[in-house]
Amino acid sequence: MPDGLGARLPAPLFERLALIGVGLIGSSIAHVARRKGLAKTIVATDAEPAVRKRVSELGFADEVAETAKAAVRDADLVILCVPVGAMGGVTQAIAPQLRDGAILSDVGSVKGSVIAAVTPHLRPGIHFVPGHPVAGTEHSGPDAGFAALFRNRWNILTPPEGTDPEAVARLAEFWRAAGANVEVMSPAHHDLVLAITSHVPHLIAYNIVGTAAHLEEVTQSEVIKFSAGGFRDFTRIAASDPIMWRDVFLNNKEAVLEMLGRFNEDLIALQRMIRYGDGQGLFDLFSRTRAIRRTIIEQGQETAAADFGRRAAEPDE
Ligand code: NAP
Repeated sequence: MPDGLGARLPAPLFERLALIGVGLIGSSIAHVARRKGLAKTIVATDAEPAVRKRVSELGFADEVAETAKAAVRDADLVILCVPVGAMGGVTQAIAPQLRDGAILSDVGSVKGSVIAAVTPHLRPGIHFVPGHPVAGTEHSGPDAGFAALFRNRWNILTPPEGTDPEAVARLAEFWRAAGANVEVMSPAHHDLVLAITSHVPHLIAYNIVGTAAHLEEVTQSEVIKFSAGGFRDFTRIAASDPIMWRDVFLNNKEAVLEMLGRFNEDLIALQRMIRYGDGQGLFDLFSRTRAIRRTIIEQGQETAAADFGRRAAEPDE
């Protein structure tokens, strides 16, 4: 198939898929679920009336519900695609309407705090299988989604102890059919790994762009004019959704602070190498980091193109 998403499945995996929150991730799930026939009916809802209206216009959901409560009625798969800080409140609102045997999942970038916020609201018979598709762009909102977002990306499932293995297997099947690779790990391990691979890099990008904005000796126009020197690449990450990222840092506090501590130690070591002219030390580190980039490309998680590999991730070209 031209889009590389493979052939349509013979029968839908789920009868009724409810997506709560239809930004980048929610709309991308709707697109791929429709394209691959993963659910007979796709219901979407969002807290924001303008988003619901836009979802109706875009037409990637079969139904647009006015409330989350209405959206989850009779759904056999419900995926929470709201910011991490909103997961608990949404679950509280929908819990009484969830059908017995339903699988409830989420896509939050932090797992420990989401599990703590969601589980107290659930009765036995609802299978909560938390997940995190490690895929994204700096764009948000319902227009930003596309079916190929998850293709060849990892989705990490972090089922709490005692979760029904059948529910985990069904959700894993859903994500594999959406093009993703699936890995299962503990929530605490997920939060530690993502702190260094995603959360701290975002913090560094926010910080460096903020520092440049505060400089008085270098003008804003010079920062923009000469941005191709490296700064530009940070601005892409620093353009990511402020609500989403505020919630990530507030909810993965311990792991982020732990990794930031290590980062600061290494930064001081680098500072010393520069101060004392340790060229060999700098060269050795930069050679090791270059090799890591090469490995990421070899494993298909990025391309060598100078456009951040974004073009390769575009859906319909
Ligand atoms: P997004 O584009 O900003 O979409 C989030 C949507 O949820 C918005 O439309 C928002 O409405 C809506 N919302 C907020 N609170 C809600 C509530 N209480 N009930 C119903 N809808 C609500 O964000 P996103 O990038 O799709 O991220 C969604 C989740 O995916 C987050 O938990 C994030 O951590 C996770 N995630 C993101 C990425 C990424 O790269 N973006 C990658 C992996 C996972 P408003 O417009 O009113 O705010």
